[in-house]
Amino acid sequence: MALPKLDCSFDVIVVGGGFCGINTAKILDKALPKDSTLALFDKKDYFEYTPSVHKVIFNLDYERKIAIPFQNLLKRTAVFTESVTAITPAYIKTKNGTYGFKYLVVSSGIAYPILLENKKNTFVLKNCEEAKKIHKALKKAENIIIVGGGLIGAEIAGEIVTKTTGKNITMIEPGERILSRNPQGASRWAARFLTKRGCKIIYGEKVIKQKNGQVITDKYSRIPADIIFWCAGIKCDSSFLANGLLKAVNKRKCVLVNDLLQIEGFPNIFCGGDLTAIPEEKTAQNAEHHARIIAHNILTSLGVCKTLFKHAHGSGPLVISFGDWAGLFIYKSFWWGGIIPAIMKKMIEIRVIANLIKFRTKYF
Ligand SMILES: Cc1cc2nc3c(=O)[nH]c(=O)nc-3n(C[C@H](O)[C@H](O)[C@H](O)COP(=O)(O)OP(=O)(O)OC[C@H]3O[C@@H](n4cnc5c(N)ncnc54)[C@H](O)[C@@H]3O)c2cc1C
Repeated sequence: MALPKLDCSFDVIVVGGGFCGINTAKILDKALPKDSTLALFDKKDYFEYTPSVHKVIFNLDYERKIAIPFQNLLKRTAVFTESVTAITPAYIKTKNGTYGFKYLVVSSGIAYPILLENKKNTFVLKNCEEAKKIHKALKKAENIIIVGGGLIGAEIAGEIVTKTTGKNITMIEPGERILSRNPQGASRWAARFLTKRGCKIIYGEKVIKQKNGQVITDKYSRIPADIIFWCAGIKCDSSFLANGLLKAVNKRKCVLVNDLLQIEGFPNIFCGGDLTAIPEEKTAQNAEHHARIIAHNILTSLGVCKTLFKHAHGSGPLVISFGDWAGLFIYKSFWWGGIIPAIMKKMIEIRVIANLIKFRTKYF
């Protein structure tokens, strides 16, 4: 197939500047040979620390702490604030141009779809922009519904019960317990924390509809809803993959990679972060880990490093906050609830952001 006319070509292009993309770009920005060129494409011109976006709901100024312009993080990388619409084995496309590459890193994260026909007053807390909209809508709302008792649902509920009074807060969880992928004791601790502070938890029901200011569940419960937080499910969005790359996805449209994090069949194209089909928790720390492997393997391919790094599955610890002064630390079957995990979560945020700004990421 003939190649379209390229507007520009780079040695390395990174698509998506979230946890995986910014860490990959940072390492390469520092370690690529001086005559190599590097570009980062993202819809927005800043990195945001998503594990703390729920803080922005009640404190709009918090955005300034957790959203950092790419230009403050990268020295010589060309940053394009453009949405990538197509990725082929030879080039990427945006509405403004077509760009060639020698190496490509796809790290555009996942989507958080709302599975309701009527999406009025329904929000998904995925970034600071959304948190600011929620801030406004929450002021007027009396009846708050949180759909899903996973990690994000629990953190939002914790934030709301500790920072508001006089609101009716209901969490609706289709399973038998909240934080269902975590130890039972942690689920009990979280449920007790929330119910003690006025959050009602309904188990074993699925929200299927929103009508006349109410949510309706599959068991026909009707609950008044002025605002709905949709925290139920994620979806890999690989719709921009084109030509040969179309085959490199599983049934759930997540990208298939080998243990070097190369897309199956394309040794010069890497994928990392939430978008991969790797069977592990989709977390910021896993995305950062992917970044180190990808950057290292690109440097090895270019002769800067000597060995290739392989990805080994594993799940690291999780820290979930419940407001400013309580949290849960979870590692495998061990868990610990109280003030220390809340402080740990804050310290992790400070350390990750400081490391990004100070350009200290280690790559081997
Ligand atoms: C509210 C919330 C709380 C969370 N809390 C935690 C936590 O406490 N601990 C934890 O470990 N993880 C947490 N996570 C998960 C964590 O944020 C993700 O696992 C991590 O961000 C994944 O990194 P990524 O690089 O794959 O994708 P992202 O960090 O999502 O980055 C993707 C980037 O790609 C860009 N992009 C997308 N499509 C395109 C396109 N077509 N063109 C150009 N750019 C594009 C986006 O703008 C974005 O900057 C949380 C997530 C959310 C939403």
